[in-house]
Amino acid sequence: MQEALKQAKIAFEKDEVPVGAVIVENGKIIATSHNQNLILKDPTAHAEILVMREAAKIKDSARLDGCDLYVTLEPCAMCASAIALARIRRVYYAASDIKFGAVENGARIFSSTSCHHKPEIYSGISEEESKELMQSFFRNKR
Ligand SMILES: [Zn+2]
Repeated sequence: MQEALKQAKIAFEKDEVPVGAVIVENGKIIATSHNQNLILKDPTAHAEILVMREAAKIKDSARLDGCDLYVTLEPCAMCASAIALARIRRVYYAASDIKFGAVENGARIFSSTSCHHKPEIYSGISEEESKELMQSFFRNKR
């Protein structure tokens, strides 16, 4: 999660919403990324999507069986759906997102009948650090 937070800080410095993500396989980080909506001019360029694309390229496979995702914020509905499609084994996230989160809030994608893969979920890891980063980002925006 420390590496994901490092990625979130990189996003922060680029004026992107500070969310970072990491993919781990066999205890090793295989891909890292952060939100890049503004830079890529892409509404889907969330940290989770970008890091899964990167990992899939590295593994040369559309499926990431056995891979774990670390992300600093609760995934949104789009990302949670993509996580299910990628067959991610475990999702570790830091802060929950009452507004857009779709894992333990909102749509609860992994509990929906249309979801055919439910990863193990672990939340609240380094929660305070991630929250503070988000709060200082949005404070600067006002
Ligand atoms: Zn997302």
